[in-house]
Amino acid sequence: MSLTAGITPVGASNVGRPFPKLVSRPREIVAVRCSLNYGVAAILTKLQKDCATPLPVLRHVADAMAADMRAGIAVDGGSDLKMIPSYVDTLPTGNERGLFYALDLGGTNFRVLRLQLGGKAEGIIATKFEQVAIPPELMCGTSEELFDFIASALAKFVEEGGKFHLPLRRAREIGFAFSFPVRQTSINSGVLIKWTKGFAVSGTAGKDVVACLNAAMERVGLDMRVSALVNDAVATLAAARYWDEDVVVAVILGTGTNACYVERVDAIPKLSELTSTSGIMIVSTEWGAFTSCLPLTEFDREMDAESINPCEQIFEKTISGMYLGEIVRRVLVKMSEVGLFGGSLPEKLFMPFALRYFHREKLFMPFALSTPDMCAMQRDTSRDLEGVGSILYDVLGVNSDLCARRVTVDVCEAIAKRGGQLAGAGIVGILQKMEEDSRGLIFGKRRVVAVDGGLYEHYPQYRSYLQEAIVELLGSEISRNLVIQHSKDGSGIGAALIAAANCKYEHDS
Ligand code: ADP
Ligand code: MG
Repeated sequence: MSLTAGITPVGASNVGRPFPKLVSRPREIVAVRCSLNYGVAAILTKLQKDCATPLPVLRHVADAMAADMRAGIAVDGGSDLKMIPSYVDTLPTGNERGLFYALDLGGTNFRVLRLQLGGKAEGIIATKFEQVAIPPELMCGTSEELFDFIASALAKFVEEGGKFHLPLRRAREIGFAFSFPVRQTSINSGVLIKWTKGFAVSGTAGKDVVACLNAAMERVGLDMRVSALVNDAVATLAAARYWDEDVVVAVILGTGTNACYVERVDAIPKLSELTSTSGIMIVSTEWGAFTSCLPLTEFDREMDAESINPCEQIFEKTISGMYLGEIVRRVLVKMSEVGLFGGSLPEKLFMPFALRYFHREKLFMPFALSTPDMCAMQRDTSRDLEGVGSILYDVLGVNSDLCARRVTVDVCEAIAKRGGQLAGAGIVGILQKMEEDSRGLIFGKRRVVAVDGGLYEHYPQYRSYLQEAIVELLGSEISRNLVIQHSKDGSGIGAALIAAANCKYEHDS
C-alpha cells in the first residue's frame, strides 16, 4: 500500500495487505541560501523542541491513553475520557434489507442520506447523499432554530424520494449520527453534555437530542422514527464492519476528533445492567478530551486560553482539523513581530483605506489560516515556494521572501507531524488496552482500524505521520497485521446501517 493507498473506500478489499512502507516526503532541496534572522530562528527551534514527538513521548501517550480508558470505563468521571457506552450491541451483518435514512451532523456541514439495502445477495442497492452547509449564525443561535433548519432540509430530501422503495405500513426509519458528547440512555436517546467544535447553540445541553429532532420533524410535518442515535465514530465502525468483520476500532479525524472500539460488555464496569445480548458493545472514548503527557507549546496554551472551552478538549486542539491552521497562524504572528515578513505588510495602494486596513490585519485574525491552507503550503514543492507565497499573501495579507516561506513550511511541518503522530499514538493506546484484556486477540490477528474525516483524507503528510507513529510503536511484525483503512463517508452509511440492524421490523421486505 502506498502512502495514498491508505485511502481505501469502505468495501474495497484490503485483506492481507501489509502495513504501508513509509515513503519519505518528497521535498525539493532549495539551493538558494537564506539567512534566517536570529529571532525567527530561535522561535522555530523552540517550537520544534516543544512539540517534538520522539518515541518515548509517543509511548507515554499510548500508555496514558490505555490507562485513562481503563479509569474512565470503571466509573463515570474516572478520567478525562468519558468512555460512553453507545448501546450499539448489534452490528450490521450484511443481512439487512429495506430503505433507511441517516442524518449526519458533525461539524460545519450536515449530510442527509438514503440507503436501499438488499440483504446478503444484493448488498447496498442504492444510496443518495446530500450535503448542506450550516449557516454560521445557526451555530450560535437557539436549539429550535438549528433543529428546524435540519428537519426542513431532511423533509425536502425525503420528498425527492425517486426510485427508492418504502414498503406499505412501514414508518421511515432514520439513524442519527450526532458527533458531539452525548450521555446515551438507550440506542435511540441521549442527552447532550456540551457542544464542541465551535458550536455554541443555546438550549440543547442537558436535553435529549433525539427529542429535539423529533419535535422539529413534527413541526415540519415529517413522519419519521429515529431508531438509532450514534456519533460519527460509532457509525464509521458499523459501516466498516458491514464489509469487514476484522474492524475493531474507528477514528474520526476531521474538524474534530473521536475514537471508538468494540468492548466486551463484562469489561464495562460502569454499565449498571448487562443490556447486551451479544456480549459486546461499542464504546465511544471521547478521546478529544485526553490531556496526559501531551507535548504542548506556548501557542497551544494561548489558543486554548482564548477558546470558548478553555482547558477542555486538549487532544482535539492538538490533532484535529479545526485547530492546526490556527496554531500555525499564532506561530507566524509571533515570528512576524521579530521580522519574519520583513516588517513589510503589503501596500495595497489601489484599495480603499478601510479595505487596506482589513487586508493588513488578516494575519492577526483568529482562524484566518485554515488547515487546508496549511496542507496546501506543505504540498508546494516548487523551487521558490510560489504557492506558499500566494497563500501567505491572499490569506494572511503578508508579503514573503523565500526564507519566510521556508520557515512557514517548517512550522506547518512541525504542527502536522505532532498532530499525526499523536493521533497514531492514541490508536496504539486503544489497541494496547484491548490487547491487555484479551491476550493475542488483537495483536496476533489481522485487525482493521477504520478512519474517516477530511483531515485524514486530504492531508497526506498528516496521514503518513500517523502511520509512522504506529509502526514505530508497535514494531514492523505487529504492524503487518494491522490495516488502517480509510472508511469514506462511513458515518452517514453507518448510522443508516445501525438503524437497519436495530430495526423493529423483520428484514424481509
Ligand atoms: P466534519 O468533521 O465537519 O464532519 P469532515 O470530516 O469533512 O467534516 O472534515 C472537515 C475538516 O477536514 C475541515 O475542517 C479541515 O480541517 C479538514 N480538511 C478538509 N480538507 C482538508 C485539506 N485539504 N487539508 C487538510 N485538512 C483538510
Ligand atoms: Mg464528520
